[in-house]
Amino acid sequence: MAPVKPDLLIVGAGVIGLMAGYEAAKRGARVDIMERNAQAGREASWAAAGFLRQRITTDDPYGWLAQTSMQAYPRLAAELMDASGIDPEYRACGGLQIALTEASRESLRRLAEFQQSRGVSVEWMEPRGVVEMEPLLTPNSLGGCFYPGDAQIRPPRFLRALASAFERLGGKIHLGEAAVRLLFEKDRCVGAEAETHERRAQTTLLAAGCWSGELAERAGLFLPARPVRGQVLRMEAPPGALSRVVSAEETYLAQRADGTFIVGATVEEAGFDKSVTAEGVERLRTGAFRAAPGLKGGRVLQAWAGLRPAPARRYPYIGELRPGLWVATGHYKVGWLLAPATARIIADGILTGETPVPLDDFNPERDR
Ligand SMILES: Cc1cc2nc3c(=O)[nH]c(=O)nc-3n(C[C@H](O)[C@H](O)[C@H](O)COP(=O)(O)OP(=O)(O)OC[C@H]3O[C@@H](n4cnc5c(N)ncnc54)[C@H](O)[C@@H]3O)c2cc1C
Repeated sequence: MAPVKPDLLIVGAGVIGLMAGYEAAKRGARVDIMERNAQAGREASWAAAGFLRQRITTDDPYGWLAQTSMQAYPRLAAELMDASGIDPEYRACGGLQIALTEASRESLRRLAEFQQSRGVSVEWMEPRGVVEMEPLLTPNSLGGCFYPGDAQIRPPRFLRALASAFERLGGKIHLGEAAVRLLFEKDRCVGAEAETHERRAQTTLLAAGCWSGELAERAGLFLPARPVRGQVLRMEAPPGALSRVVSAEETYLAQRADGTFIVGATVEEAGFDKSVTAEGVERLRTGAFRAAPGLKGGRVLQAWAGLRPAPARRYPYIGELRPGLWVATGHYKVGWLLAPATARIIADGILTGETPVPLDDFNPERDR
């Protein structure tokens, strides 16, 4: 008897691969994921700050991705918590973006007006209002935008909950298994090859983050995703010091349920180098103290770095590259924000042949 082929083979167990796998498994598909690390979700998705900030205001499929995902999060987080018993720490905490220079005050004010005209819920705050809202922040801010709809999740917890919920649905994650090559028969992708064996499936999804380009290239496909390093700090702080996700110029801050502070993130072209650097840590500390002088004296508890999968231009790469081969990568700084709707596109496309929005904007060929 011929072995049963899974409906979907996914390369990469980051938030994109796991979320797509979970969505497809929920609809009854048999899904296998190949993950080269010893644990699922330990790359960019784990390193991320986990802020969900609705700033994308376009009326195109990219705007649809952002809005649909934002709306999906509360239910998704509750569903994962029920299925796994792990709290992904979804918090509808709201967000505050403050200006520390005249130039950024002007541009934030203009941005707020534009966003209001596009239906984003945002309120301009004068400096006093900012400090009343978040007393830890500098009294020297020049005002800012308050976004009541912003939220945060805690990536490591969310990823554990997601992987567990996926496995409960019968999904399989093959850890320590790197795909070295995509397998083709004529023009059709029929799976992927690991060091010692092949995995065959009806459809394969390439979701290997910033490493997706290498695999695509080996198959003669054009996929210009590249790594962009981001460093993050976790710092000590008194509990209840900050309620919202705060951004100030290049730095953003948020307090987790355990009281510690997340300070992110650098944006660096460093190839596939995931090192934490003295310069990166110093830049983050300086940015954090400038926005919240009350943090001074707090110890740095942890520092880490991850590699964002960046597209050549603006949009992520989502769609069918060849018969039997789909891709979902290049979500850059907003992979968490866009993951639930990306998963919906993939599951709809693979299982029904229809997608909820046209995918032309997400075709890598447009970046050639
Ligand atoms: C510092 C930082 C802060 C961020 N903050 C936010 C934020 O606040 N909000 C937000 O929305 N987004 C944020 N992002 C962006 C977001 O984290 C990413 O866009 C998202 O995690 C990308 O997910 P992914 O699954 O595509 O990639 P990854 O998480 O990198 O997953 C890819 C997976 O594929 C595996 N893999 C690679 N090659 C192979 C192979 N050959 N075979 C098998 N497996 C393979 C890898 O091991 C990895 O597990 C941040 C990113 C960083 C780095």
